[in-house]
Amino acid sequence: MKLAVIGTGYVGLVSGVCFSDLGNQVICVDNNPLKVEILERGEVPIYEPGLKELIDKNKAAGRLSFSYDTKSAVEASDIVLLAVGTPSLPNGEANLSYIEQAAKDVAEALNGFKIIATKSTVPVGTNEHIERIVSEHTNFPFSIASIPEFLREGSAIQDTFNPDRIVLGCLDQETLNTLIELHKPLTSNIITTDIRSAEMIKYASNAFLATKISFINEIANICEKVGADVTRVAEGMGYDQRIGSSFLQAGIGYGGSCFPKDTEALIQIAGNVDYEFKLLKSVVEVNKDQRFNIIRKLQEALGSLQGKNIAIWGLAFKPETDDIRDAPAIEIIEELIKLGANVKAYDPVATANFKLKVNHSSIKWCDNALETASQSDALCLLTEWSEFTRIDLVQLASLMARPILIDGRNVYDPIKVKEASFIYYSVGRPHSA
Ligand code: NAD
Repeated sequence: MKLAVIGTGYVGLVSGVCFSDLGNQVICVDNNPLKVEILERGEVPIYEPGLKELIDKNKAAGRLSFSYDTKSAVEASDIVLLAVGTPSLPNGEANLSYIEQAAKDVAEALNGFKIIATKSTVPVGTNEHIERIVSEHTNFPFSIASIPEFLREGSAIQDTFNPDRIVLGCLDQETLNTLIELHKPLTSNIITTDIRSAEMIKYASNAFLATKISFINEIANICEKVGADVTRVAEGMGYDQRIGSSFLQAGIGYGGSCFPKDTEALIQIAGNVDYEFKLLKSVVEVNKDQRFNIIRKLQEALGSLQGKNIAIWGLAFKPETDDIRDAPAIEIIEELIKLGANVKAYDPVATANFKLKVNHSSIKWCDNALETASQSDALCLLTEWSEFTRIDLVQLASLMARPILIDGRNVYDPIKVKEASFIYYSVGRPHSA
């Protein structure tokens, strides 16, 4: 099939590349000329394991190309996938300006019947809004569909090729048949539904996962007070098939480009129809506070943080990505600076993006994990990159001014950390001095 993917970000680029690998002819479009230039040079504008190799392979096979020009890409395609961003507005609602512009650009480029399918996460009713925009700007026939995306950054290729399910929201049977054909090589678990339900499935799924995270974080906070170990509690819960073990890792809360904005957007979607989503409001509130447990633990260990040297390991919102959108590290570092600490920070791939968001003279950017920890009064692990989890703890302790380790992701074995003479704080486990 011939596809144009509008928006070459974390979702559009990965989806486009994977569809080309399945034998489709794909043009990935972005209105940011810099991104297109980078891709045309053979480089990749984002960090995603395995992506470069897959791009090279499919470019060489002549199935994949990049363009700045929506018009020619749409003209050459039968299916147009919209994958532009839908970031939060200040009130939490989804900003639909990018999707509206993309819909208009596509409409003006139509030269015959096309399927226009939205992969971006959009509030319920948005695809009908897109349909109206397109109709206002073209006389050519077209059909609308919602195909919400569930990939996770860091394992995006694996997720795209092995999805738990594909949701196709569409009422036109012929369009549905084409979209089923397109997705059939990925999974047999294809759920077909109406467009509004498809839009809601995406928000409900993310809200539920966020709820699991905030739930286990609250259990962890109680565990700290009653002397229980949340990792054992989560293990014991997770064996219950009605609960499941995923998303029960206590930590400093969720971040990233999806959960924070999608939970806020769902609260607004509910509010717009006079429904107060009390549960989800609490999930968001719990998450916002959870990251500050790092600061509270630092203060418990060190007293005032004024003039203290604090090392930070991990800036990305999760490992295996350079995405720092809504990463807990942003607020934690800003708070440390406010409290007068000197911050040394390191991330294997996300430092450049982070510097664009937070840059301050009290932050020293480091090139490796041990240099960051050296001579610091405390070390905080915020992202569980494997290079941090594999570190030699005895050597690490010997480099620090004070061996205080605040583990925001529960990656270390408390016994081994104690053997290395650390004063160790983790999340929801008894702290060892
Ligand atoms: P992103 O910001 O990485 O990429 C969006 C891209 O669209 C940018 O490169 C931007 O330049 C481009 N763009 C904007 N307007 C355009 C236009 N008119 N024409 C051409 N290009 C245009 O965003 P993302 O993380 O890929 O997310 C895209 C959507 O997918 C969002 O709605 C998001 O919620 C959803 N989603 C994201 C993830 C994820 O893990 N990132 C997972 C599932 C769903």
